[in-house]
Amino acid sequence: MTDTLQTAGLTDEALRELAEQAGRELEDASASDILAWAAGTFGKRFCVTSSMEDAVVAHLASRVLPGVDVVFLDTGYHFEETIGTRDAVDAVMDVNLITLTPRQTVAEQDAEYGPKLHDRDPDLCCALRKVKPLEEGLTAYAAWATGLRRDESPTRASTPVVGWDEKRRKVKVSPIARWTQDDVDAYVAEHGVLTNPLLTDGYASVGCAPCTRRVLEGEDARAGRWAGRGKTECGLHG
Ligand code: SF4
Repeated sequence: MTDTLQTAGLTDEALRELAEQAGRELEDASASDILAWAAGTFGKRFCVTSSMEDAVVAHLASRVLPGVDVVFLDTGYHFEETIGTRDAVDAVMDVNLITLTPRQTVAEQDAEYGPKLHDRDPDLCCALRKVKPLEEGLTAYAAWATGLRRDESPTRASTPVVGWDEKRRKVKVSPIARWTQDDVDAYVAEHGVLTNPLLTDGYASVGCAPCTRRVLEGEDARAGRWAGRGKTECGLHG
């Protein structure tokens, strides 16, 4: 296995090849084995990002890399329940919780761009409050893990378990890409993993409050995100 010392000086091109090879070799591996590969390969240059919808990937990662960095993006628009989940994860799990914030507060953004930018130009709002802060926050890392799953939406159906994030030029690890919602529910039940209370209140996917609604019967999990705005992803993953 390639170790942390061997990957420290790799070029982007070599990292891309490493990621694509790992994606092929680990396609059938368990989530824990995928995370163990990432932790063993990148060490402290590996982090988990979490939207605090649930703490499944953070929990999985903390078992293979105790004290793992868990990065949360506080857009300033989160539900109270999401911030509460973040605080609970920080309090009870063996992780190093890192909260990233945008350069401007919501009030400062309102003053510059006008109120409710999320209603008028959600792409710009996401760029300012999500994409840019994450880009800056990830500079210290060579690889990051996400909780993306193929069954969440058609746009995520081909998510590799390990791939190359061209936008940020980093290895992107999605250890539960092959999991179904039932797999997530079973893991949460078995390990008592923290979840966002909104998931039991009609929300199937939890993002910023102004851009998230409950899902209706038969809708896919992400149908409640930017509903009616022709937008499906915030720019972090697509
Ligand atoms: Fe702004 Fe909505 Fe994007 Fe959050 S999800 S950053 S409120 S547009």
